[in-house]
Amino acid sequence: MSALATILRRRPARLALVSVLGLGVLFGGAAAANAAMGQVRTQESPLTVRSGPGTGYAAVGTVAKGASLTISCRTKGTRVSGPYGATDVWNKVGDGRYVSDAFTTSTEKAPQCSSTQLRTVQLVAFKGARACSSDERGYANGRVPASARCALYGDRGESLRPRAAAAFNALSMAYERENGRALCVTDSYRSLEEQVAVKAKRGKWAAKPSTSEHGLGKAVDLCGGVGTFGSDAYRWMKANGPKFGWVHPDWAEPGGKLPEPWHWEYRG
Ligand SMILES: [Zn+2]
Repeated sequence: MSALATILRRRPARLALVSVLGLGVLFGGAAAANAAMGQVRTQESPLTVRSGPGTGYAAVGTVAKGASLTISCRTKGTRVSGPYGATDVWNKVGDGRYVSDAFTTSTEKAPQCSSTQLRTVQLVAFKGARACSSDERGYANGRVPASARCALYGDRGESLRPRAAAAFNALSMAYERENGRALCVTDSYRSLEEQVAVKAKRGKWAAKPSTSEHGLGKAVDLCGGVGTFGSDAYRWMKANGPKFGWVHPDWAEPGGKLPEPWHWEYRG
């Protein structure tokens, strides 16, 4: 069969899918709140299930060609080409289990994944993303001992509290798999002495000593393009950071009190 004939043969299936999705929109949001039943349609058998919404995430299983599966929600990830064209939509089919929408059809459109639903991305799927210490005790700002901090992936000189570091490292590895390099870190944990020095040097661009999230070991300042609102790297962080518990605080947004595209905080 010629390539064109193949495309023509596939077209009706694609149109049928679109019209079904259109009906879902026409008949209101009631169905959108529920999980959608999906049918795997793949020319590869079996279809690979990944720990996150992208081809860079670890393979965690497979589903057979033609198998039914429940899609709890949909999100954006790596762009993939399949029998139904190219798409960056990924379907969540279990905790830490995702399949590309390029290989699935569904009778209803699944809702967008909330940040809570996305947080089940399995950190352990990333080698080196485990916390180096279990010391999560509360320490005064700027007084967190080295034994209660963990090194950051790709930058051994930087550190954060154990859970924040594990989540950051998984995030940085996901970034590396999609962009070819780890996240670039300018600054992470800051001792009280360092906060005093930074305040003296940067003035209003630094928090009052002992009030900075950097002093708690739960904030990073990023470089490598993230320092510019609207850049590809910044947009990647906005889309993917929350899946790992890393957010850009309101005060640092373009309309915020102190617009700082590079400053990110762990809220996991
Ligand atoms: Zn900062």
